[in-house]
Amino acid sequence: MSGSYDLISIGGGSGGLAVAQRAAEYGARALVVEPAPLGGTCVNVGCVPKKVMWNAASIAHALHDAGEYGFAAGTDRPVEWARLKASRDAYVARLNGIYERNLDKKGITWVRGRARFVDAHTVIVGDRTFSAPHIVIATGGRPVVPAVPGAERGITSDGFFGLDALPPRVAVIGTGYVAVELGGTLAALGARVSLFMRQERILRSFDTMLSAALMTELEADGVELIAHAVVAGIQAAGSAHRIVLADAREFGDFDCVLWAIGRQPVTADLGLERIGVATYDDGVVITDRFQATNVEGVYAIGDVTGREALTPVAIAAGRRLADRLFNGQHERHLDYELIPTVVFSHPPIGTIGLTESSARELHGDAVRIYRSSFVPLYHALTARKRRAEMKLVCVGEEERVVGLHVIGAGADEMLQGFAVAMKMGACKADFDNTVAIHPTSAEELVTMR
Ligand SMILES: Cc1cc2nc3c(=O)[nH]c(=O)nc-3n(C[C@H](O)[C@H](O)[C@H](O)COP(=O)(O)OP(=O)(O)OC[C@H]3O[C@@H](n4cnc5c(N)ncnc54)[C@H](O)[C@@H]3O)c2cc1C
Repeated sequence: MSGSYDLISIGGGSGGLAVAQRAAEYGARALVVEPAPLGGTCVNVGCVPKKVMWNAASIAHALHDAGEYGFAAGTDRPVEWARLKASRDAYVARLNGIYERNLDKKGITWVRGRARFVDAHTVIVGDRTFSAPHIVIATGGRPVVPAVPGAERGITSDGFFGLDALPPRVAVIGTGYVAVELGGTLAALGARVSLFMRQERILRSFDTMLSAALMTELEADGVELIAHAVVAGIQAAGSAHRIVLADAREFGDFDCVLWAIGRQPVTADLGLERIGVATYDDGVVITDRFQATNVEGVYAIGDVTGREALTPVAIAAGRRLADRLFNGQHERHLDYELIPTVVFSHPPIGTIGLTESSARELHGDAVRIYRSSFVPLYHALTARKRRAEMKLVCVGEEERVVGLHVIGAGADEMLQGFAVAMKMGACKADFDNTVAIHPTSAEELVTMR
């Protein structure tokens, strides 16, 4: 099978499926090239299975608290990992099938394999050739593993989802959201977790209030935080592993070492150099605000562009690109300002806009901060206390809300509506004029003084 199409998407993940489907809705003939089950990182080894595991960890916490809510003792019992994994994998497989049927319904062709550019309008997949005036690079990213001795003894987030049993002792190396999410989940499910931080803070790009609060919570959940830990290698200790740091400190034994030190774009084997697509040194494809590369007819969306690496961002960029190419919306593009983000830690974090320090750098004395810190009502009855912390970053006479940061139960579901308000330009007075919902944690955001 070979052929010509109106649009080819290289990659059947969040971005690639979105652009192909929206294009097909406008009547374009679209082709998706994808070697793996449809859905990409998010569906197979990212957001979806991660959220299932986060739910399981939340249930473990609830079971722990159950006695204080009057439930019989003994509800605090270990997770049956194999059963959880089987249900999770079955759900992911169901989603893969749904994605496949959706392509069928929309008349989109799916070719299994890896695409490589021959010229700006042609790709090869094995021995087949496909052409289109518009080709979208949507190949996503993959986890980074450093070149240190014994690195291969560790797994990445991909390997986390393959674990057949809960490892009793886990070393998590990294400080980003994947590290704290997976480390926190493992700890809640009963593993003894050590988190190795290159410096002395997790979530370094986030507001310091959030990272400080989450470090307190991780420690309260029994996670050991090891600062200034530059990993020099992983050594064997029987069937277990020992971590050796650059300053010669050693830690172990661990049953599992999880690398969570970042992701890199998947661009190495695409033949980009052959058609002259410009990339940064790390392989990130350079795009303009219309997702266009420097080569006419070649675009890039999602993680491969090195912008906010989030599923809804990849989807939004893909849909807008199709709106522009196939529905005459010539100026349609994604605005990358004010993108809300959630970290599925325990408790979760919701954050949007400027941190306090970046606002002060930009606006100096025009910044006004409102803060709230409290123990949510849920914990009134529990011995396990988890605080909530909130911050509004406001700027100027009108106190426009340019940053909103929350850690605490429910922060994940709280953020979306506030993101709408901020995107519309909400000021502190608008928050003040909104009647609170009681008793919730979210009400604190409209009652701060
Ligand atoms: C552990 C983890 C948790 C995450 N949690 C969240 C979350 O909670 N919320 C959120 O918004 N985001 C989350 N993300 C990020 C999210 O998964 C990504 O931002 C999103 O999947 C990016 O979509 P994409 O289309 O750019 O790439 P991907 O979804 O990675 O899809 C790229 C696809 O391209 C294919 N491909 C690669 N090379 C080729 C080739 N040569 N030819 C054809 N196909 C190719 C790959 O097989 C892959 O399926 C998480 C990520 C990880 C790793």
